[in-house]
Amino acid sequence: MNLKVLPRANNLCNAKTRSGTPCKNHRMLNGRCRMHGGKSTGAKTPEGLERIRQANYKNGKYTKEAIMERKEFKSFMNEINNSLELMKKQLMINRNQS
Ligand SMILES: [Zn+2]
Repeated sequence: MNLKVLPRANNLCNAKTRSGTPCKNHRMLNGRCRMHGGKSTGAKTPEGLERIRQANYKNGKYTKEAIMERKEFKSFMNEINNSLELMKKQLMINRNQS
């Protein structure tokens, strides 16, 4: 990736400074100046990627396993509800016949 500073003066960094004002430096290709992460290419090593994963992990509610488990439970409950509806209808038919 080319990390050269973009030449136009209105292309400013998207970061907010510690005093709360927007940064006035020129941005690099990723939208940030060299002092606000413009030179960063992100984590590359497996350890670094794992550290980011761990930092973003809160309670596991949105892990693949948890999402799959909720889907399975929902389809199981739908199946039960469908059979219950069927049984109710059958019961109504039987009542009407007798
Ligand atoms: Zn900046």
